[in-house]
Amino acid sequence: MERFTAVVVGAGHAGLAASHFLTERSIDHVVLERGEVANSWRRERWDSFRLLTPNWQTRLPGLSYEGQDPDGYMTMDEVTGFVERFAAVSRAPVRTRTEVTSVRPAAGGYHVTTSGGEIGCRTVVIASGACNRPVVPPFHEAVPSSVEQLTPFGYREPGQLPDGGVLVVGASATGVQLAAELRRSGRPVILSVGEHVRLPRTYRGRDVLWWMDASGVWDQRYDEVEDLTRARRLPSPQLVGTPERTTLDLNALTAMGVELVGRWAAVRDGRALFSGGLRNVFSLADLKMERLLGTFDEWAGATGRDAEVGPPERFAPTAVPASARLQLDLRGGEIRSIVWATGFRPDYGWLDVPVVDEKGRLRHDGGVVDGPGMYALGLPVLRRRRSTFIHGIESDAREVIDHLARYVAQGSNIRK
Ligand SMILES: Cc1cc2nc3c(=O)[nH]c(=O)nc-3n(C[C@H](O)[C@H](O)[C@H](O)COP(=O)(O)OP(=O)(O)OC[C@H]3O[C@@H](n4cnc5c(N)ncnc54)[C@H](O)[C@@H]3O)c2cc1C
Repeated sequence: MERFTAVVVGAGHAGLAASHFLTERSIDHVVLERGEVANSWRRERWDSFRLLTPNWQTRLPGLSYEGQDPDGYMTMDEVTGFVERFAAVSRAPVRTRTEVTSVRPAAGGYHVTTSGGEIGCRTVVIASGACNRPVVPPFHEAVPSSVEQLTPFGYREPGQLPDGGVLVVGASATGVQLAAELRRSGRPVILSVGEHVRLPRTYRGRDVLWWMDASGVWDQRYDEVEDLTRARRLPSPQLVGTPERTTLDLNALTAMGVELVGRWAAVRDGRALFSGGLRNVFSLADLKMERLLGTFDEWAGATGRDAEVGPPERFAPTAVPASARLQLDLRGGEIRSIVWATGFRPDYGWLDVPVVDEKGRLRHDGGVVDGPGMYALGLPVLRRRRSTFIHGIESDAREVIDHLARYVAQGSNIRK
């Protein structure tokens, strides 16, 4: 049986960053990938997808964006190319088309079963992604069969949907982007809105993600976050990366003719039932945005940056529809398809080690998993608020692989 000091599961940017630092520390390892390098970007996004993080921010250890459009947003081909380039320059020992079907404890570490054979290893780095499966509420089974249902994994472009109205469920980054694209294709679109994070694309003349970066908001460490469980579950912000740097909040969608309804709560007798209280949901999101912008203003004032940026801005509150529908007959033909943009979850079905809690979350402390010699990367707020983003991996991977190196050197599980 082959043996390595470390096995890395997954060749997305997180697994490749782990490999980069393992190589830097001369730790022998292999990266196992069930598909191709950057598989989730290739297989699990829609055709018009662009990153919502700007090009200047898209960086991996030793690799930065060097194109002509630092303020632009990468297309899917560009992201895939960027991650592939990283694999090539860091000479990552990737085995593609090698699915890990089981990892279980064994003498001296772990026994890894793959579609290409058995491997023994001392340590495992789980970099298999945070978004392996779309989350869809169980009541989707009660939706009449005349209505087609899709998740973002199956959605590619509007032409694939039957003619007629679309109900998009979820108003985070994916939901608002798909609602806008479907509306632009000429269809009637209803968007079901629950808790969401509103952000303008630019603030005081700079990309809002520049503010997140520069002001240190994204640097906040996981052990400094007040409610970590909540921070890890926070929906993605309502942002889209377009060449025009447009803001895609609910007001923008309303102006495009998208109808807003409340959170989808149940299906009864072929009818979708939506929660009321949109006013509260909207004002909470508006308030949180205002608070965040206030933090940016304070930071700019305190660090003498006021002259470099535009004047403080405030945005119109989210307009509440005069009378939001509380139910919708799914049998009536008004809605021909539903796109569930209700989030994603990881899949640890292959992990035969008791380190996953009853909610399917990996038990870990800053990426040090609750199993000796086992580590994780690429999960929300793993070590910092920016952990799950491409530019967040460098510091996380360095620190997690530092821990792994100490573990290998000392032969005991050390904490923090
Ligand atoms: C819709 C969406 C939009 C996003 N937009 C942005 C953005 O604009 N900017 C940004 O910085 N981040 C964005 N992210 C977040 C993040 O950068 C991506 O999710 C990124 O793909 C995560 O990288 P990763 O390496 O952690 O996981 P992944 O890229 O998912 O890589 C995991 C890899 O593991 C492989 N794998 C899984 N299970 C196994 C197994 N059992 N055996 C072998 N291989 C396995 C998968 O095939 C995959 O290649 C977005 C995420 C989503 C879902």
